Amino acid sequence: MIDIKINDELELTDDKFLMIAGPCSVESEEQILGVARDLKKIGVNVLRGGTFKPRTQPESFQGLGEEGLKLLARAREETGMAIITEVMDEENLPLVEEYADIIQIGSRNSQNFSLLKAVSKYNKPVLLKRGFGNTIDELIGSSKYLALGGNKKIMLVERGIRTFETSTRFTLDVSAVPVLHEKTEYPVLIDPSHPAGINRYVEPLAMAGTAAGADGLIIEVHPNPKEALSDAAQQLTVPEFMELYDKIKRITEIT
Ligand code: PEP
Ligand code: MN
Repeated sequence: MIDIKINDELELTDDKFLMIAGPCSVESEEQILGVARDLKKIGVNVLRGGTFKPRTQPESFQGLGEEGLKLLARAREETGMAIITEVMDEENLPLVEEYADIIQIGSRNSQNFSLLKAVSKYNKPVLLKRGFGNTIDELIGSSKYLALGGNKKIMLVERGIRTFETSTRFTLDVSAVPVLHEKTEYPVLIDPSHPAGINRYVEPLAMAGTAAGADGLIIEVHPNPKEALSDAAQQLTVPEFMELYDKIKRITEIT
């Protein structure tokens, strides 16, 4: 049975669908507050935004750090949305935990066992992404580090794996949804943005994951994707996201 309390107003249960949306990175007050207001109006209750970013190249934008966390807190204060942000290392875990309603563990840290053990000591929902080089059983192994350490408020995320296919950034493994449902008790979310890599592929992947039985989605939405400081090609505009969300609602029959 799924039952994860996110904040006083929000609880993820078997019959609910969790939509998480927001930019890849928090970039400025104007950007995050603007997109948060728009998303809240559309009915999104959880805002994503990275402030410690796991970038492949060290010269790429690394995130605003604590300043970004403060901006997320301001967005929460103004909109009432819960916030989710990624923790990259144990050093910044207490700081990230202080601000986040949900702690995100990214694909690259999915098998960082010391980080998982440290996160397991907090009583806060954790969104654990699948490493892009990991099998489903390896993802389940990572989830056990959290659960055995004392934290069972786990959401698993399929976010694409590396295959020989290069037309998309990663290959979304839709089969992870039924397999994880069979093998674990945790909600399974799909991140269609990172496997797509290109914004026009996000919608079909989101729909496929939802139709396969995902319990929610985490989608990158930016007020002006062309100007984004990270993952510019895959982020949706607010109108694009609205259209997608309408279609998802029709699949899940949520209103
Ligand atoms: C992200 O959510 O912006 C991110 C870096 O995702 P992943 O860890 O799946 O690559
Ligand atoms: Mn991203």
